Amino acid sequence: MVLYLQFFYLDWKWDVLPDNFDVKTETYQEKVLDESCDDDGEVKIIKLKKDIIENRLFADSDDITNKSSIHSVYLLPCNVKDRKFDINNDIHFSIKSINHWFLDKTNNQIINFDKKDNNLLDTTFMRVNKSIEWFTKFNTKENNKKDASSKIEKIILSNQNLFINFENKKFIIFFEGWEKRRSITNKSCGRSRYNGKVAIFYTSEKDKKIKSCTKDNINKSNKKLFGESEQTILHEIMHTLKVPPKCGTNIDPKDPFHVNDNKDDIMNKVSGSLYLDFNNDDYFRHNIKNCSDLSKSDYLINIF
Ligand SMILES: [Zn+2]
Repeated sequence: MVLYLQFFYLDWKWDVLPDNFDVKTETYQEKVLDESCDDDGEVKIIKLKKDIIENRLFADSDDITNKSSIHSVYLLPCNVKDRKFDINNDIHFSIKSINHWFLDKTNNQIINFDKKDNNLLDTTFMRVNKSIEWFTKFNTKENNKKDASSKIEKIILSNQNLFINFENKKFIIFFEGWEKRRSITNKSCGRSRYNGKVAIFYTSEKDKKIKSCTKDNINKSNKKLFGESEQTILHEIMHTLKVPPKCGTNIDPKDPFHVNDNKDDIMNKVSGSLYLDFNNDDYFRHNIKNCSDLSKSDYLINIF
């Protein structure tokens, strides 16, 4: 049970002002918690009046088949701003560009993302009665042991009733928040559990000095780009699909969840953008006997 960080290059542009940041004085104002927040009580999914908007989905839509799929979720703490990534198609276009890249590398396979019958991505909106501080503060007994990612994972796993065909699904969570453990030189934009159920992409940032993860597709107008956001999202999803397997040729001995033969490989620790298994000797169409191969995953579909 290992959760690990995804590190990034340093050229992220900071683009999201936190709600409590005062531009004039450049200071953070003490936050008044929304009354929908309950940091001491039981974790609950809540539905606020202001969140009820046309085309928004609060539960999984009907599935067309029972086939394994990756389901997207837009998850918000009780006191953060809704940037409508689920209904303004930002998430949809990011996923679309990921599959566009994936098809380009495989020639005949894409990832089976859960979609609605109109071919748009089926993204579930979830707001939880916990504040962003509950997810990220260190100074409580509970929080010193847990990162935001393990709390997010638990929220998904304990709300199976919101999802159809839960056992055949894995999840990509777009979380309107950040991870609390960060280094000064690197930032983590995604996290996932190897062969787990849940991959997470952090869409927001607390500190002006630390750059946001959503610099390109998400919250931006360039809808086609396979940018750093998409590289992270795909990288984290692939960890949940058991990539790379331990029997791969170039598994980094110091970091067994990543390959080290090319920094432009999507499964390098910095999420490259050029190769889906450089030289095909680690995780994709590698021909290593008795070693799992992404190309045979139930979560892919062959389109030719
Ligand atoms: Zn990784």
